[in-house]
Amino acid sequence: MGACCCCFPVYKPARENPMRSTRESLIQHKPRPTTPYHPPPPPFITYTDKGMNAVERFKTGFENFRNTIYDKRPELFERLKTGQSPKYMVFSCADSRVCPTLTFGLQPGEAFTVRNIASMVPAYDKRGQCSIGSAIEYAVVVLKVECIIVIGHSCCGGIKELLSLKEDRPNTFHFVDDWVKIGLAAKKKVERENMLLPFDDQCTVLEKEAVNVSLRNLQSYPFVKERLQKGTLKLLGARYDFVYGSFEMWDLRSGRLTSSARLMSMKLEWKGTLSSTYIHTVSRKLDLRHRHAWHGLNHDLHPHSPWA
Ligand SMILES: [Zn+2]
Repeated sequence: MGACCCCFPVYKPARENPMRSTRESLIQHKPRPTTPYHPPPPPFITYTDKGMNAVERFKTGFENFRNTIYDKRPELFERLKTGQSPKYMVFSCADSRVCPTLTFGLQPGEAFTVRNIASMVPAYDKRGQCSIGSAIEYAVVVLKVECIIVIGHSCCGGIKELLSLKEDRPNTFHFVDDWVKIGLAAKKKVERENMLLPFDDQCTVLEKEAVNVSLRNLQSYPFVKERLQKGTLKLLGARYDFVYGSFEMWDLRSGRLTSSARLMSMKLEWKGTLSSTYIHTVSRKLDLRHRHAWHGLNHDLHPHSPWA
């Protein structure tokens, strides 16, 4: 990670070793070892759980759910006893601050959901780990979901780790570094095209570009490709920003993503409570240099959009 000029630590001059000449120390000087990147610990946040332990907390939570939702909606839960036919498959980050069910008001049975680090989808590979592949296959082939939505988010630790990866730096984690390398192409693109942006802003761009990589990877699954060609499946990219309370979504019009510049970006924003939601769409390049906004949700690609 970079640092501004005022951030460099002031080093005290090394005390001279009387047993070694100055000339010798200069010749034998070696570069300081690269310090591994360790993400700072997150701030400790307390919740109003009245000091309950885990068993009490989950028991109380379930009782509340049963009293306020389960018992109040017998028609829904009776229907779910016979099976599920979710319309959506959702990829979301495992981050505890991101909760797609709550954020989008999804009902039980409405979305088949996978949550992992940075909501990433690896490319089709039968030799690799099959967790994600089996979820996609079941959702697409058996449940026949109509839409797969990959949702990135603000302040994503997985994306920060991805952007912090350096070839000469040892892995920080046993698994995380290798996992987020799914988005390595996006990282290189963001670094190449946004080198002047501060690290945090590069992360914001990468949070979207990593979603685009996952959308491309989804198209490498033969059953996804088949449904896309038939027009019975749609892929959507999205980014939820819990810092600004905003949500962006972009669509693949033809089922084929040739480049991220073919994206339509729709930004849904709300101010205050959800009941006073106002929605407008914003088309903008992912590097944020060009913006073009217009109102209305049911637009296809805007004629003056830089993507058109
Ligand atoms: Zn995340």
